[in-house]
Amino acid sequence: MAVLMKGSPVASLIYKEIRSEVEKLKGHGVSVGLAMIIVGSNASSGQYFITTGNLCRKLGIEEYPSRLPENVSLNVILDTIRKLNNDERISGILVFLPLPLHIEQRAVLNAIAPEKDVDGLGAISIGRLAAEESTYQLFTAGPNFSIKNTFLPCTPYGVIRLLEHYGVELKGKDIVIVGKSLTVGKSLSLMMLAKEATVTVCHRATKDLAEKTRSADILCVAAGKPGLITADMIKQGSVIVDIGINSLPDGSFAGDVEFKGVSEKVSHITPVPGGVGPVTIAILLKNTVVSTKRMFGIR
Ligand code: NAD
Repeated sequence: MAVLMKGSPVASLIYKEIRSEVEKLKGHGVSVGLAMIIVGSNASSGQYFITTGNLCRKLGIEEYPSRLPENVSLNVILDTIRKLNNDERISGILVFLPLPLHIEQRAVLNAIAPEKDVDGLGAISIGRLAAEESTYQLFTAGPNFSIKNTFLPCTPYGVIRLLEHYGVELKGKDIVIVGKSLTVGKSLSLMMLAKEATVTVCHRATKDLAEKTRSADILCVAAGKPGLITADMIKQGSVIVDIGINSLPDGSFAGDVEFKGVSEKVSHITPVPGGVGPVTIAILLKNTVVSTKRMFGIR
């Protein structure tokens, strides 16, 4: 029987830390502020926007939402970000993805001040991850308070935290990642390399995907294709992290892995929903708290 790697126990531990840090900061007269920018009406980012806002209120974090219309120009978004970069009440800026097609996503993410880039997707944050300048966060429990430090992208870092919580060793393992987006697959591959795993990254042009996935001690899937990974594509006793979240026509959600057949063959597997997702949001909010501490020099 596979161990079900639920995200909620990991998220609860992080929320406990956040609650006490928010209280401590209030004692210094400082509030934690998260700016949230959402453009248009994408259903899945709309849901994430609502969930994040609710969690902020529960945890005592001030939210500063900006809802921009679908036809907004790039300049208006950049202007909004510039104001938030200079606003002392705000220590984290989160832009909900995807943005409408006419908006250059990289220009938006790169406009966020690196020290407020709590989602870790700007070029400076990614570059520091690739250069292994921010990967100390993968090895130390406590944050580094230097203002110059950036944050690791939340979803892939959430995968690492989840695996560590369930006692899955990464060093020396053969890890296959399906999906090479900056948000998930590529950034996760950089973190796994920093952890000294042997990493293979697959994508939509990969030849014989099943041959690669069957070689994995740990298989991480972020393709956005429900049912992509079936039981015949995995190694007996391996560890499966399903990062995909796909909304199905009946309104339910599914990952990229056929849970029923696969879970009978493996040692550990994440559920969808309830696996990586809850950890991602918890890390984002934790980053916002750490950013506030850095801004005000409070440990
Ligand atoms: P994306 O569309 O940017 O990237 C998808 C990647 O999968 C690409 O690299 C593509 O080459 C690859 N791919 C697509 N079809 C494939 C196939 N048939 N075989 C092999 N590779 C294939 O998507 P993304 O932003 O990386 O998101 C991927 C999934 O992860 C989505 O379902 C998304 O909802 C989910 N996601 C979850 C979280 C979370 O917190 N759990 C966060 C971000 C994204």
